[in-house]
Formats: sequence, C-alpha cells, structure tokens
Amino acid sequence: MLLTITTNHQPATDLGYLLHKHPDKCQSFPLSFGTAHVFYPEKSEQRCTVALLLDINPVELVRGKSRADRGEGTLAHYVNDRPYVASSLMSVAISRVFRTALSGRCDNRPKLVERAIPLTVKIPVLPCRGGQSFLRQLFEPLGYWVEGERLPLDPTFPEWQDSVYLAATLHNTVRLCDLLSHLYVLIPVLDDDKHYWVGDEEVNKLLRHGEGWLNIHPMKEAIAQRYLKRQRKLTRIALTQLTEDSLDLNEAHEIQAEEEEAIEKPISLNQQRMEMVVKTLQQHQVKRVIDLGCGEGKLLSYLLKHKSIEQITGVDVSYRALEIAKKRLRLDELPFHQQDKIQLIQGSLIYRDRRFNDYDAATLIEVIEHLDRDRLTALEKVVFEFAQPRLLLVTTPNIEYNVRFESLPAGKLRHQDHRFEWTRQEFQDWGNKVADRFNYQVTFQGIGDQDLEVGTPTQMAIFTNHIVKQ
Ligand code: SAH
Repeated sequence: MLLTITTNHQPATDLGYLLHKHPDKCQSFPLSFGTAHVFYPEKSEQRCTVALLLDINPVELVRGKSRADRGEGTLAHYVNDRPYVASSLMSVAISRVFRTALSGRCDNRPKLVERAIPLTVKIPVLPCRGGQSFLRQLFEPLGYWVEGERLPLDPTFPEWQDSVYLAATLHNTVRLCDLLSHLYVLIPVLDDDKHYWVGDEEVNKLLRHGEGWLNIHPMKEAIAQRYLKRQRKLTRIALTQLTEDSLDLNEAHEIQAEEEEAIEKPISLNQQRMEMVVKTLQQHQVKRVIDLGCGEGKLLSYLLKHKSIEQITGVDVSYRALEIAKKRLRLDELPFHQQDKIQLIQGSLIYRDRRFNDYDAATLIEVIEHLDRDRLTALEKVVFEFAQPRLLLVTTPNIEYNVRFESLPAGKLRHQDHRFEWTRQEFQDWGNKVADRFNYQVTFQGIGDQDLEVGTPTQMAIFTNHIVKQ
C-alpha cells in the first residue's frame, strides 16, 4: 500500500525537514500490523517526492481479535484488500511516522511549516465507497484539484466492470500539516471502514485532526458519520461540538466583528448600547447579572465599573472569546475584591444549565441573530423556562436601519455569521410570542439615533417576570 507526496516548492528537498525524514535515507518503522517504510524516489532542488509504503502482515491484523470479530468460519480476515489499499491503516501510519509533521512543528524550518506550498498526493489504490463524486465532494471544498481514475475489477474480464478502487491524485497549495490532517481523516471516510474498535476517543481524534476545517466543511455530517463507523451517539456528540465550534470566534469572526463595529461606528452604537443596557439594569436595581453570549466581554467591562452591581458572570460557547475577554478585562490584575465579583464560564445557551440560575438579570446582547431558528427555540426554553431571570434584556439589529449605513452594501447583513436580522415588527412579534408562552411581560425600546422612517439601529426587548420561582 503506497502513498506519495511531491512538491516543487524550492528547494524541494526541504520536504525532508518538514517531514523530519532525511531525503537520503530509507527508514523503516515497525507497526502492530506490519512495517512502514519511508523513502524518497526522487529528490532534487526542483522536485522532491516522499513515499510511504506499508507492508502489511494480514495475520497480525487478525491477531488478538475475538472469534466473532474475525468472522468465524470465513477466510475474509486473512484474504482481503487490506494489504493493498489505503485505509485506516494508512492513517495510523501517517500519525506514527509523520507525528511531528502532522502536529505542524519544524524547528529547522519554522517559517516554511506555516506556509502553504504546492503539494501533490498520489494514492494508487484508494477505496472510494461513494465513487469519484464523493472523493470530489470531500477534497474540493478544501481547495484540492482532484483526479480519480477508476480501476477495473480485473482487466482480463472487462464485463466485471469497475471496482470501488480509484487511482487518485490530489493537488493543492496547502500547509503540509493540513494536508496530512486531511488525509488522516478522509482516507478512512472514503473506505467507510476502520480496522479497530471505535469508541469515545475516536471523537476526540476527529475533532483534533479536523480542527480549523471540518466545522466548515459542507460534508461534515457524512464525514463524522463514516469516521465514527456510523455510531449514532458518537456522531451526534461530534456534530454538536463541530456546530458549536463553527460559532466560535475564529479569526475571521473577529475581523468581521471589527467590520461590524466599523459599519456602526459613525454613531458609536456599541457604546450607546452598553450604556442603555447598564442604565436599564440599574433602573431595575439589579445586583447579580449574567451576560449570556458575552463574547469578548464588552458589556462585562461596563458592568465592572458599576458599584451597584455585585456579581457578574459572563458565559460564552467560545473558549477563545473567553480568553480574549479575560485578557481585555485584565482579570488577573484585578484587586482582590473585584476578582470575586466576576467569573467567566464556558457554556452553551441551547442546553439547560443550572449555572444560569439565580441571577436578578440576564442579558443577551447581539446574540440571538447568531442562532439558527431551531437553536433559538432551544435557547428560549433554556433562558425563559429554566433560568427564569426576573429581568432579561435582549438586543438585536434592526434590519430596517441598514439602509442608513453607507458602508454596508444593500441587502447585506451586518455580520457574515448573522442568521437573520429582524425588522421592528418581526422582533416585536417574536418578543410578544415568547413573553406570552413563558409568562413574561415585555416592552421594546430603540437604541441609537432615531430615524423617522427606519427607527433606531439597535432594538432592545425588556422582559420582566415578577412570578417568584417555586
Ligand atoms: N454579547 C457580545 C458578543 C456578541 S457576538 C457583544 O455584544 O459584544 C455573539 C456571541 O454569542 C459570540 O461570542 C458567540 O460565541 C456567542 N454564542 C453564539 N451561540 C452561542 C451558544 N449557543 N451558546 C453560547 N454562546 C453562543
């Protein structure tokens, strides 16, 4: 079973540094199911190819398996395609033999390791359950140019037609560590099988090696399902985590947040929003407040300045956002009495969480528009039915006002991650409906400069609930 990786990035022999394998050597690595050999069939300044060859011992593959697992009474475990095709065995070999390269470390070439370089992968026999189009669907969204040549089942019997195997070539300009992660995850997905038992740890592996690309991959459901051998529970856990990751504040998101601010800047809307929220909290004599979806902690920094507020909690699903919040608020440097006053917790607003209980007020500032409809419904239950703050402030953009933002192209929402932006009527319809459903009263207020025709840029709902919790 063979896989080669070629580059013409010059000097091409730097591939040896990136892989931590010297181009002049042929090295062998014992694995539980056979031996992996690494060598360079071509190496020059202009072009360099590394080969990973697996010599698999079919008997070793069967050793240690239970009789049932072996498929009692059949020879299938001894006579099969495993020694000849790229499968999960190849993924294991990649992770063992190219462990450091896969993790993206190269002390000798620290700049190169971060660079996208032209790479071509050839896999002469790749089982492709789902055919060539599935191969394309997996690799093309990651920027690969894909070639797949179907291999006949047996050239002497053309009437037997093609096999499920392809001779695949993949080209991309990509960091080597990313390419190895893509192969590590997607080869077993194409094969739709694994040679070992798949348990909880497999979810972690998928999330670790899929970091940065799987959460935005259009085929992430199919990938998770096949990678986890169609185990429903594991797939569900992985997909939930991946979907939440896609809401994470990644760098793109941060840039967009800055863009959103820039759009809204001429009227320093953020400041007006925060001041209005704090003022409303004070009017209601709030002492303990939880900021749901606190992001980088903008509101928290305002709340910290107010003595009347005694306890502040910020919650966000994004660990990265919380880390930024922690830095911005300089939590480590706060005086002792202030440190007790504020805490940041990671949590999801669509799952019931006792940590959200027992606050005088909760705030959802520019959060709801980041949630798909069914998730918003889950959030409504979590906040109104379970956490039940006596005061809840929800702010969201007023889409009618968008025409007044000169830098925002017509028809575009203020932030790429917004799932919707509502008119005043839509927001009020939603507010009235949830207030009705969960026994709250609601009033609405505009935030920012009032335009006669289109209203204010931000809208706020003030939900109150005077029913004492059981
Ligand atoms: N309230 C902040 C951030 C608004 S951006 C501000 O006004 O600046 C929306 C935030 O909601 C992001 O930080 C995002 O990570 C968070 N978020 C989105 N969905 C979430 C969920 N299901 N659970 C918790 N936080 C979520």
